[in-house]
Amino acid sequence: MTIAGVPEPIAARLSRRIAAIEESATLAVDAKAKSLKAAGHDVIGFGAGEPDFPTPAHIVAAAVAAAPQPKNHRYTPAAGLPELREAVAVKTAKDSGYEVAASQVLITNGAKQAVYNSFAALLDPGDEVLMPAPYWVTYPEAIRLAGGVPVVVPTDESTRFRATVDALEAATTERTKVLLFVSPSNPTGAVYTAEETAEVGRWAAERGLWVVTDEIYEHLVYGDHRFSSMPALVPELADRTIVVNGVAKTYAMTGWRVGWMIGPNDVIKGAANLQSHATSNVANVSQQAALAAVTGDQACVAEMRDAFDRRRRLIHGLLGAIPGVSCLEPEGAFYAFPSFAGVLGRPLGAGGRTPTNTLELAEIVLEEAKVAIVPGEAFGAPGYARLAYALADEALEEGVGRLAALFA
Ligand code: PMP
Repeated sequence: MTIAGVPEPIAARLSRRIAAIEESATLAVDAKAKSLKAAGHDVIGFGAGEPDFPTPAHIVAAAVAAAPQPKNHRYTPAAGLPELREAVAVKTAKDSGYEVAASQVLITNGAKQAVYNSFAALLDPGDEVLMPAPYWVTYPEAIRLAGGVPVVVPTDESTRFRATVDALEAATTERTKVLLFVSPSNPTGAVYTAEETAEVGRWAAERGLWVVTDEIYEHLVYGDHRFSSMPALVPELADRTIVVNGVAKTYAMTGWRVGWMIGPNDVIKGAANLQSHATSNVANVSQQAALAAVTGDQACVAEMRDAFDRRRRLIHGLLGAIPGVSCLEPEGAFYAFPSFAGVLGRPLGAGGRTPTNTLELAEIVLEEAKVAIVPGEAFGAPGYARLAYALADEALEEGVGRLAALFA
């Protein structure tokens, strides 16, 4: 038996499910950039989706205090430390206006495990998930691993990369079970208004769909844009909604691996059972750090957001000044998502190589300009590329300057 696109020997050795997983394009770009760096090249990386700041000191101090305590050296409840589940419930009511009980919170190994748990808990083989594109690379893989079918709902610049009810309706079939909703968005930086969020939520409720809503960038919104939480705006949806969130982006804690999912008790119980066999509890020292993050002084959140906001305006201005590149102003998260349509199909730089798509463009940009960007193909959006602006102002200017020189 062969699997489409998978050579026979691999198909014979691996399960079909695992052999069908695609390599993460973002990690692949990152790996190539790192190997160029290791070979002595001065690479500017717009690839990694993580804050460049160290974790705030008071959070690290809580972990240091937790590490010597024997209670943190032992197994703890698979669903999370009770005090952290409670703190997440309190934080959610405070930040989102969404009232939940601690029993509705499952602490996960990063928001990524919350994504996997959510789809594993909800999907039977063939169940369809509405997945607006451009989408974060992990979603289609997580849906497929759970036996589900990701159904792409295309969006474009005409709606500033927001999915409309009409577009969602057009993609809905009798197999549709879940709507995936992400605002602010990775990779586009789009932030739905409260009205748009409520409209989509009411439509999902009327349709009887479940919603998985990824709120990991809730605190990274800029200008007049505001975060809104769908189940808070559409209470009738709460019994069929899973909120995915975590400390990674808000507190510069990507490496600590603490996230959570919030949902109705039956789903949380099911996901906790899955997690109890898959991974058990999240590392206790990390959970103690997350507890300090969500209950402690929040000034660090605003400071980091202000720095991202400054870089956002800087990169948006610089990219917009390059002929052939056009970029909507990012509204949230820390990604710019420009169109490179105007630089495809013509020879670039001294090497004169001509990219016909953004996959080739990203390769040329990395090899010739030593700048790492993630091609839009990874997010279901050829013609675009994602640039994370979570890097120092000087590096950002240097990196975009190199693109401008290559495209000149
Ligand atoms: N959701 C989105 C939209 C993300 O961009 C990411 C990180 N790239 C995650 C979830 C996962 O975050 P974590 O590090 O907490 O697993």
